[in-house]
Amino acid sequence: MTLAADRRSILRGMKAAMRLLRDLGYDHGMKRARRVDVFDCIDRRGAALMFKPFDKLLGAYMKQNGAAGIILNTERPLGMQRFTAAHELGHLTLDHDPHVDDEQILRRGPIADGRKYSQAAPEEREADAFASYFLLPSHLITAQMEIQGWDVQRISSPDVIYQASLRFGTSYAGAVYGFERERVITRGMRQELLKAKPKDLKLELLDGRAFPHPRRCDVWLLTERDEGAVIEAGRDDLFLLRLNEATGAGYVWTFEEMEAAGFAILKDGREPVPEGQIGSLTVRRILAKAGYPTEKALHLKECRPWDPEDGPRTLTLHYRTATGDEAGLFKRQRLERLSLQ
Ligand SMILES: [Zn+2]
Repeated sequence: MTLAADRRSILRGMKAAMRLLRDLGYDHGMKRARRVDVFDCIDRRGAALMFKPFDKLLGAYMKQNGAAGIILNTERPLGMQRFTAAHELGHLTLDHDPHVDDEQILRRGPIADGRKYSQAAPEEREADAFASYFLLPSHLITAQMEIQGWDVQRISSPDVIYQASLRFGTSYAGAVYGFERERVITRGMRQELLKAKPKDLKLELLDGRAFPHPRRCDVWLLTERDEGAVIEAGRDDLFLLRLNEATGAGYVWTFEEMEAAGFAILKDGREPVPEGQIGSLTVRRILAKAGYPTEKALHLKECRPWDPEDGPRTLTLHYRTATGDEAGLFKRQRLERLSLQ
């Protein structure tokens, strides 16, 4: 395959992804900053979505008598399921023939491995490019950089890339390649950033504290900049909240609503105030974990305990446990079929 053919495939996949995101309303307003809910998108495109355990197969796109369907392997982590789902949605959107995908789709990519990429069939390269742009469109990168105040200097730090990947819903490496694709970072920076291990970054956030499932569980660092964010997290994820607190004026953050929603507060404290800064803001630091899968808007309040209604400052987080490992039909489609019976 020639370089020109590669470019044509990338462009075709990218344009189809942009068009579908626009049609589904992801390219404007608040949704620009939200991770793309690819399972929901498959449902909204009218395809049946099924989860099943397989040994090697990652996913498949099927078409029969005008009806389309996508199958995903429950035996893979959610991030991999999301990428496979976007790849299969690419086959559907680009009107490709029915197709089965194995782990090869994870080993190639326009940037990750140019040689293997060129060896793949044009439909595969188009579906790969579709998945890469669909899950991480330019507007999502720009919107999160604005919200979080990330400039190029901060993006060169692995811990910032890790937090970006959680908000994007991609792997750590996926976020690095996304920033390179958008020319936020250079090739040299990409190589440097890929040396960092997410497991070490998680441990650093927890001050070296051991935790179960270090590969499966993520550690979200949440601050006031995440106001209104949709936190779509794995069931074992941990949340480290760092919030400015006007303790000098008697204000404290309260977390009763989180506890009422089933969150356990594992650690609660304040960061030491740097010398010579007495009277300024302190930083409250709590570590929390969801007790069970849930979907809830959490309104955290910073107020004076003796007068809670006097000008409280709030932080709203829309929390949702991300699941994708139950075998069977996508939950919404299952419920719809039940209601038709
Ligand atoms: Zn494919």
